[in-house]
Amino acid sequence: MTKALILTVRGWWESQPEQPPVAKVFLTVGQFTCVEPAGLQFAFEVQTQGTFLDGAELVIQETPLIAFCHPCQAEYRPEIGLRYGCPTCQGPMEDIRSGRELKIERVEYANTPASVP
Ligand SMILES: [Zn+2]
Repeated sequence: MTKALILTVRGWWESQPEQPPVAKVFLTVGQFTCVEPAGLQFAFEVQTQGTFLDGAELVIQETPLIAFCHPCQAEYRPEIGLRYGCPTCQGPMEDIRSGRELKIERVEYANTPASVP
């Protein structure tokens, strides 16, 4: 998973006309993915050592799990590991609106010092 993430950033970075040092990688991770942010952060640090991402910070933004109940026409927040169904009608979780994202939001470059004439 971390490898795929690094490869994605690398592919994008290599396609840029200039390749300034990367300071931060912003990632959106849904609560309903199997990704554990702390574990991902650690793996990222280890696996980027000696690469172009060495020293770059991984900033993880978690999105909550939100489902939509069609009979009730309402959104609700399932409790992960406890209760996924609708709290009002007890219907099963069928329509996930948020929480399964796993994407790179943006990449921030290190500030290159302005050249002084
Ligand atoms: Zn319902």
